[in-house]
Amino acid sequence: MRIILGFAIAALLGCSKETSQEPVPVASTSPPAIETPIAPPPAVSRLPDTNWALHGNDTGEQRYSGLDQISRDNVDELGLAWSFDLYTRRGVEATPLVIDGVIYVTGSWSMVYALDARTGELKWLFDPQVDRAFLAKGCCDAVNRGVAYAQGKIIVGTYDGRLVALNADDGEVVWDVQTTDRDKPYTITGAPRIAKDKVIIGNGGAELGVRGYVSAYSIVSGEMIWRFYTVPGNPADGFENAAMEAAAKTWTGQWWEWGGGGTVWDSTVYDPELDLLYVGVGNGSPWNASLRSPGGGDNLYLSSIVALRPDTGEYVWHYQTTPGETWDYTATQHMMLADLEIDGKPRKVLMQAPKNGFFYVLDRATGELLSAEKFGVVNWASHIDMATGRPVETPQARVFDGKNVSLPSNAGAHNWPPMAFNPDAGLVYIPTLLFPVTFLEPTQDKDMKPGQGKWNVGFDRMGGSPPKIPNLGDILDTQFFSQFIAWDPIRQEARWKAPPGRAGMGGALSTAGGLVFTAARDDQLLAYDAATGEELWSGYTGNLAAAPVTYALDGEQFIAIAQGFGGGFAAEGGPVAHDWQVQNMSRVMVFKLGGTAEPPPPRVDTREMPQPAAVTADAAELAHGEVVYHRHCGYCHGDGLRTGGVTPDLRWSSAQVHEIWQDIVLGGVLEARGMVSFSDYLNADDAEAIRQYVLAEANRLYGEKHPEQVEMQ
Ligand code: CA
Repeated sequence: MRIILGFAIAALLGCSKETSQEPVPVASTSPPAIETPIAPPPAVSRLPDTNWALHGNDTGEQRYSGLDQISRDNVDELGLAWSFDLYTRRGVEATPLVIDGVIYVTGSWSMVYALDARTGELKWLFDPQVDRAFLAKGCCDAVNRGVAYAQGKIIVGTYDGRLVALNADDGEVVWDVQTTDRDKPYTITGAPRIAKDKVIIGNGGAELGVRGYVSAYSIVSGEMIWRFYTVPGNPADGFENAAMEAAAKTWTGQWWEWGGGGTVWDSTVYDPELDLLYVGVGNGSPWNASLRSPGGGDNLYLSSIVALRPDTGEYVWHYQTTPGETWDYTATQHMMLADLEIDGKPRKVLMQAPKNGFFYVLDRATGELLSAEKFGVVNWASHIDMATGRPVETPQARVFDGKNVSLPSNAGAHNWPPMAFNPDAGLVYIPTLLFPVTFLEPTQDKDMKPGQGKWNVGFDRMGGSPPKIPNLGDILDTQFFSQFIAWDPIRQEARWKAPPGRAGMGGALSTAGGLVFTAARDDQLLAYDAATGEELWSGYTGNLAAAPVTYALDGEQFIAIAQGFGGGFAAEGGPVAHDWQVQNMSRVMVFKLGGTAEPPPPRVDTREMPQPAAVTADAAELAHGEVVYHRHCGYCHGDGLRTGGVTPDLRWSSAQVHEIWQDIVLGGVLEARGMVSFSDYLNADDAEAIRQYVLAEANRLYGEKHPEQVEMQ
């Protein structure tokens, strides 16, 4: 399962570089004849991991590196080698690629940076000039999780739905294709993957009402080769294939009017051993299944892992993790391939810890469920019935009365941060989330179809603060938490758990040095003993970070990580992150043994809150303003006006902003900064009512900051 030698690596990476650090026995430097391999690649093989050339390092996306210079014995000597400040101040979720002395990393707005891996010097920058108005078409900030590399090209999916191939040497555009309908709320945040001579890309948008799909494009020309929809369209239009016809039997009502969902917004994996492409499919659109498919049904292929033929996009098998998905329980999370011995038999498995809280081990040739157990705190299902492969839901699972809590929350027990595997310890490391959510139905907006700046999840307000939950452990009684755990995928149980920390995101890296790294717990990059979980080193990063990678140059091993606070915690999770007061520091940090570099100091925000004008609205107008605000504005600007710090806190709006309020909300004068016009949804009275609600809350906050002035009044 490790990196594949020789011919296969030429096929996968399209090795056209003859100056590789490690000599690689490629068959040819011209495009390889990848359709007819000479011999199947060995099941388990390893190259010296000097590069990190695939998203998950190896074809199984195990995120395990054979480098062992940094080890349990010396990791305490790890220090900063260099850092590079990215040019934006939004979320960063990228896994960097490292190829022959160059780091290719994405920041927000799908910008690609090529950095000298020795020094951090910028070699080139590609800015795809994403239309900022697309911010209103995405759920979770203008993030990007990385590039793919093949045939001398760096390939990035852009937030406005394009797939762009760049010359790896100079960043010049080779081709640039639109993969989505720009009039619909599709966005791309995931990293493309390479499957032989094709690049695979999906998209997001199921919170705003779209039909999900995954597509394959020619690496050479950017021409689309095939597209596979993940949910059926309107049967009256005919079905694209037999898989869609079969799926339509599991839907009811007029689901296509809602989009249906099933977006492939993160994980796809190509398996060269079995020549299968695995696709992780997202949640329903809307979330609430009783609106989407009122007569019930499993709603294939929502929340499923689907195996396709990479050459044609033809359906092979599927496994649905959450039939009748209604909680935003995506199965888009990291899929990892490995060879495991189960019940005395070697099995080729696919492992996933999707949002719904169960850890699944599937036979990846057939999709057969081998085992599934809870890795998180789960109350929607008691267990997975191994005879049917289906979850057994609890009686309260679909009670949405505003009081019953759903566990995990819509953020999941595990979200996009990648896992890692240590083949020696036999452990999978999972960054987990531990908090619930409360849904209320029916929504006031049950007839409202999707649109810009408006979720159509089909539930009303989800409480801003987590309710206290007795009998579910001390952790859940108090705060939004995350916890890094080491999971034994054969015995299906945790081997060790790190102490929980503030809820955050951060992927995992596993190395032959017996270490596992992750960014967690209040902005630390941490190194644990892979076998025992003993914490061996921590380095301050100052921000929530993505997934670390490792590489070697000139005989030295480096650990690299990209960071930048934002993403879901800065948008939907604003009320949670508001209290953290995290300042965005978008940065690439690279560590090595004996590193002594100092990162630039954090920016200090010295601004004072302007004194707001008096409220002139009556109680009825204020109440209307609050409702309309939460329907159209709260998603980005925060529940109760509490933002995560990436979008403006409207309570701090200046007098000038209040003066041109109508021009901003209805006229769209700030569209170039991502604040689109809401004239399709709001009129002048609505906009003014929102302004009055903002003023009321601004005065409340100002009073808290200046109690002496309140007393004087
Ligand atoms: Ca979702």
